[in-house]
Amino acid sequence: MKRKSPARTTKSPQPLAPLLAEARALQPRMVDLRRAIHADPEIGLETPRTREKLLAALAGLELEIDLHARTSGVVAVLRGGAAGASPRRILLRGDMDALPMPEETGLGFCSRHAGRMHACGHDAHVAMLVGAAHLLAARRAELAGDVVFMFQPGEEGFGGADVMLEEGMPAVDGAFALHVAPPLPTGLVGTKPGPLMAAFDDFEIDVVGRGGHASMPHDCVDPVPIACELVLALQSFLAREIPAPDAGVLSVTQIHGGTANNVIADVVTLQGTLRALSASTRAALSAGLRRVAEGVAKTHRAEARVRIQPGYPVAVNDGGFEAFARGVAGELLGSQAVIPLPGAVMGAEDFAYVLERTPGAMMLLGVRAPGVADPAPCHSTRMLLDEDAMPIGTALHAAIATRFLAGGC
Ligand SMILES: [Zn+2]
Ligand SMILES: [Zn+2]
Repeated sequence: MKRKSPARTTKSPQPLAPLLAEARALQPRMVDLRRAIHADPEIGLETPRTREKLLAALAGLELEIDLHARTSGVVAVLRGGAAGASPRRILLRGDMDALPMPEETGLGFCSRHAGRMHACGHDAHVAMLVGAAHLLAARRAELAGDVVFMFQPGEEGFGGADVMLEEGMPAVDGAFALHVAPPLPTGLVGTKPGPLMAAFDDFEIDVVGRGGHASMPHDCVDPVPIACELVLALQSFLAREIPAPDAGVLSVTQIHGGTANNVIADVVTLQGTLRALSASTRAALSAGLRRVAEGVAKTHRAEARVRIQPGYPVAVNDGGFEAFARGVAGELLGSQAVIPLPGAVMGAEDFAYVLERTPGAMMLLGVRAPGVADPAPCHSTRMLLDEDAMPIGTALHAAIATRFLAGGC
């Protein structure tokens, strides 16, 4: 996606304050869109009703719209009217999908589908990006380059960004995305250069023993104590072999095995997830998990069968682009509103695939309403977001694009 020689312009920059005022004027429409998407959540790569809603909200804007075939993704390109022969291009991304979980918010517009919820704020991400498309389309004549809006399903474990990139996206010179952050108060944005979100890989280990009568364990190879020992051995491996400055997480989240009190099982299965902030730590975690599992099982005459399902790479904010985006956010919102994040988040994010191909950044948008003392996090059945933060996200998308295309980065 990265192009070699972006054109730059040297005109004096447009003031950003009007963007916030216009985004606030758009807020009721954006809130309606967000609530309609929230009430009708869709999961995975196919989110056709969400696509319909966002297309209806973009109707009338001068956009070139490409409906992707392998997913419900939408690529909408706004051609700047003041672009030269080789215009710069920036990608703005909003993810569209929900999670397979019940909703317990009690909101009037809560999910109409049992077992599905927009608990990661992607409903607001879509609405804010639609709002940005409206603000930028109104400035099309002055834009010194093109804006590529990437509406992407399947973020929650389906790698939708990767699928859309494989299907085909326009080449761009920079990329930007926002993710809501329930702990951060409305009005603030959080940012950092370098790794922002972790790589993840999921694993499954079958500890294969030999079942039999529970009164005669000596005639069996009991996988239950072996699995228990393995959980602790994996934690020792993490603590003693992964260097402390290299953040890594190894969580065993499920143990399944056995059918009766008097039967020793043949197999116990452990499942869990690995997180890392560098490719080398990621590789070390997978290799160590495999070695420790096989070694502990063999010690006790059992066998470990390890399967590792690769997840997303590390989401890395480009140093130069992040500094540029931080500056724009400070100009738009006041420098006190831009909070340097103390460290990366060990959650994962498939915008990482975009950031692998082009310099860019993701920022965290504060959505904690005033007076909320103990906000439920993303992926909670009670997760809430303050809709008064939505104009800030809308204006920030538009400000980053405007400044980038004017040669600000
Ligand atoms: Zn999520
Ligand atoms: Zn998310």
